[in-house]
Amino acid sequence: MLDKVADRAQTIAANDAMHVDVLIAGAGISGIGSAVHLKDQCPDKSFLILDSKETFGGTWETHKYPGVRSDSDLYTFGYRFKPWIGPPIAAADEILKYMGEVIEENDLNPHIRYGHTITHCSFSRDTNLWTVEAISKADGKTLHFTCNFLWMCQGYYNHNDPYIPDWTDREKFKGLFIHAMKWTPDIDVTGKKVIVIGSGATAATVIPAMAGKASHVTMLQRSPTYFFCSPNQNELADRLRQIGIDEPTVHRVVRQQIMYDQQALTQRCIDEPEVVTEELKELIRLYAGPDFQFEPHFTPKYRIWQQRLAFVPDGDIFQAVARGEVSVVTDHIDRFTEKGILLKSGEELEADIIVAATGFKLSVLGDIPFEVDGQPVDWADTVTYRGMMFTGVPNMAWVFGYFRASWTLRVDMMGDFVCRLLKHMAGKGAERVEVQLRPEDHNMPKLPWIEEENFNPSYLMRDLHKMPKRGDKPEWRHNQDYWQEKDDFPKINLDGAEFAYR
Ligand SMILES: Cc1cc2nc3c(=O)[nH]c(=O)nc-3n(C[C@H](O)[C@H](O)[C@H](O)COP(=O)(O)OP(=O)(O)OC[C@H]3O[C@@H](n4cnc5c(N)ncnc54)[C@H](O)[C@@H]3O)c2cc1C
Repeated sequence: MLDKVADRAQTIAANDAMHVDVLIAGAGISGIGSAVHLKDQCPDKSFLILDSKETFGGTWETHKYPGVRSDSDLYTFGYRFKPWIGPPIAAADEILKYMGEVIEENDLNPHIRYGHTITHCSFSRDTNLWTVEAISKADGKTLHFTCNFLWMCQGYYNHNDPYIPDWTDREKFKGLFIHAMKWTPDIDVTGKKVIVIGSGATAATVIPAMAGKASHVTMLQRSPTYFFCSPNQNELADRLRQIGIDEPTVHRVVRQQIMYDQQALTQRCIDEPEVVTEELKELIRLYAGPDFQFEPHFTPKYRIWQQRLAFVPDGDIFQAVARGEVSVVTDHIDRFTEKGILLKSGEELEADIIVAATGFKLSVLGDIPFEVDGQPVDWADTVTYRGMMFTGVPNMAWVFGYFRASWTLRVDMMGDFVCRLLKHMAGKGAERVEVQLRPEDHNMPKLPWIEEENFNPSYLMRDLHKMPKRGDKPEWRHNQDYWQEKDDFPKINLDGAEFAYR
């Protein structure tokens, strides 16, 4: 092990590593937002963003399937510092345009290195520096960077290798089989029979976008999902604009309204799930007609708060079902056939194209090998400090957003926290900060990252054992509650015993 560290140190010396105060991994919505907060709140810090892609956008650049759009509103998925001006639900290219403007307006381009894949991160308590190894796509060279603080904004799933269940005889299918993440714009569904496997937000997006163009679309689901149908507009935003309110104020007020309403809805989902379920059905009937049949395809079996409530603008998937362009089948796949899919019920579904909308593989810290003082980090052995920092791993934070509320709300909030921490360190003359269990935490149970009872999406459940552990106290868990955290975060005492400085 020590030989390996020495080898690496020699290579670094030979390559003359570039140094920055803060290195940000990833130029998705988290990395770009974090960079703006850093530039704004810590203008004296030098920083660099590395991303393996050729451009910014992360999720919104990776996915190119028909109709790709957000499933939460852009007033809250957008940053707090940049007003969102369009309809609440946005297409991927609109989100990319918004992010492009943020990069331009904040002059971030000189700080971004695209085509750089981080392959190794190691921290030394001797130097209090991270050494980050990256491979440049342009020439295949391995480069080294050193930094004082590592801000991990590399997301939570593998962008190259989507989750595809191990279906029997998949190779026998003679048509086109593709996972939604791998969709390319040249694929034409015109006049084709399409099966989409899945029932989540991706399926609910891709299906209405293909409906009417394809000869028929079948949504094949194992079990139904809850959907929230509503027009793609925000009445309050429209009204405020109509009476001449400026965009920054519209953004601030509408964000507040949406967050307030979401909090109320989440609470109602817990307190009176049957009432909310009936209301969701009523919204669907507005688009699909009063006689729309919910049994058996639209009656979920899980409890309503256990998974993200997917927003369906204008109930478009239900309109397509009502028009007969889309049908839904709730069954299990027995195996693939030359013509399509044989179901456990014995029915065979025929298709020209089969789209797997079956989700992701969780990627913990980008699956990048991490070392601290020459020892490999196993994230499952660490305990998380509020879902941001990890015991035994100094000078590092990971942006992990919300499941029920917009991810980006946490990007802004963590931006404030990390900048406050960096300034606090500078004020103390500290070069290193790490989170540590306090004496009263030592007997704390080490629990899985998330409570299954509270939230249980499949990608997380499949690989939960790889994630850092959670404790049973507010400091040692990502509580997934924006409304609580927005009050708690600014009050965090950075001189508390859970922070150790050197
Ligand atoms: C189709 C889809 C729709 C979604 N819609 C919503 C929504 O409406 N609302 C919501 O809140 N959430 C949504 N999500 C969740 C969404 O992924 C997050 O909200 C958010 O986009 C994550 O942003 P991020 O910047 O943290 O990560 P990502 O978007 O995953 O970006 C990470 C970036 O890091 C780079 N990277 C990763 N590893 C490395 C490495 N080793 N070296 C260098 N660079 C690396 C990647 O190339 C990528 O550019 C959606 C997810 C998907 C897939």
